[in-house]
Amino acid sequence: MNRSYVAACRERCIQRGLDPEIIPVPNVLAVNDLTERKERYHDILEMTNFFANKLLFFGKYPVVLCVTDGQAVILDMYGDEGILQSVQHMGLVLGAVYREQEMGINTVSLALEHNKPIKVLGNEHYHTYLAESACYSVPFCYEGRGGITGTLSILTTLENATDMYLGGLLAVVESVGRELLLRKQNQKLCMLNQILEEQIIVSEKFSAVGKLAAGFAHEIRNPLTSISGFIQLLQEKETVDYKDIQYFEIIRSELARINKLVTDFVGVAKPEVSTVRQKHDLKNVLGEMVVFMQSQALLCKVEIVYQAPDTSVFLECNDMQIKQVMLNLIQNAIEAMPDGGQIIVALSEEETGFVSIRVQDEGGGMTEEKKKKVLQPFFTTKENGCGLGLSVCLRIIENHQGQIEIDSQKGKGTTFHIKLPKG
Ligand code: ADP
Ligand code: MG
Repeated sequence: MNRSYVAACRERCIQRGLDPEIIPVPNVLAVNDLTERKERYHDILEMTNFFANKLLFFGKYPVVLCVTDGQAVILDMYGDEGILQSVQHMGLVLGAVYREQEMGINTVSLALEHNKPIKVLGNEHYHTYLAESACYSVPFCYEGRGGITGTLSILTTLENATDMYLGGLLAVVESVGRELLLRKQNQKLCMLNQILEEQIIVSEKFSAVGKLAAGFAHEIRNPLTSISGFIQLLQEKETVDYKDIQYFEIIRSELARINKLVTDFVGVAKPEVSTVRQKHDLKNVLGEMVVFMQSQALLCKVEIVYQAPDTSVFLECNDMQIKQVMLNLIQNAIEAMPDGGQIIVALSEEETGFVSIRVQDEGGGMTEEKKKKVLQPFFTTKENGCGLGLSVCLRIIENHQGQIEIDSQKGKGTTFHIKLPKG
């Protein structure tokens, strides 16, 4: 096969009228162009250098090793200084283009053309100046950036010719390929590591909040218990009149409310979120929250529009937690529109077995950079914010096996999409 490629090439050289006695002059790239190409092949050149020195024995033998790109341009050359000097007159210089048109029979263009290892020995060359030379080229094609192609080639004396060179070149090409793959996998692992590290930071912050919350809850519940006890005592007194009973009732219900708030806070801040779930009609759950937030919204010149289907949307969930999510999202939306505007809260049931909730505002929006951070605990841009709202939302939604997605455009507004699986 090799021979027939060479023979066909010889035919073409004759037809082109190349003179076998004249040493051809290759086109040589401008320095800028060469630098750019070398930059693209940077990794490959670096690794080839490493492996070629290990696998091929320069120094002992008159050998020149060239790395070319897929257009037969010599990007790099290795070998003994003296030999590199002596091959210059053959046009073997950095940036030289080893095309068949100018250079006649040469292994670089043949290997690229046929995508096979090629050797050309002595008189097989078209030009007589190469009659004492042996050339070997092995093509390569590495993945990445659209596939990087080129050749690894050796020029030596006919006297020194051996097929071992082809084997050596193949070994280098293969080793470089494996190394490139390893580097790519390493990069992926690095990225994964980074993501994991970030998540660990997030969950560590959470467990810290959990501990804080548990201690905090204990401290609040203690006085609550004694206040409740004293109220009980006061209620049992004979002098209590009708008005007092009303006041006591208010105090007791307010105390119950504080107790519940504390419990809820611990519930969301604790690493293990409550898993109590029941079937609830989300249409009502969200509806209640919209009504609940409406008065505050009006104070801020914000209108909340609720779009829900006509029929019930049942979901196995913890309704208090879903309410908490809605509260945080609506609160944020209101705060994002200091000059007022409209919030759309939409509920819908997807055919794909998901319930989706959308909270959309017309506020200032956020940059991509900010979008990545807002779900993290303690990230806030507000003077009085504590940056826990959205991270609590994320935690709750993830505990419902759901997802949160943020669509936001700076200056246009933000939409939070929540997807919850029904099954
Ligand atoms: P906080 O209430 O303390 O701001 P959150 O977790 O609720 O904490 O939100 C974190 C940050 O995300 C906010 O400080 C704000 O910068 C940004 N953010 C949240 N919701 C919106 C929104 N609807 N529009 C623009 N920015 C928002
Ligand atoms: Mg908030």
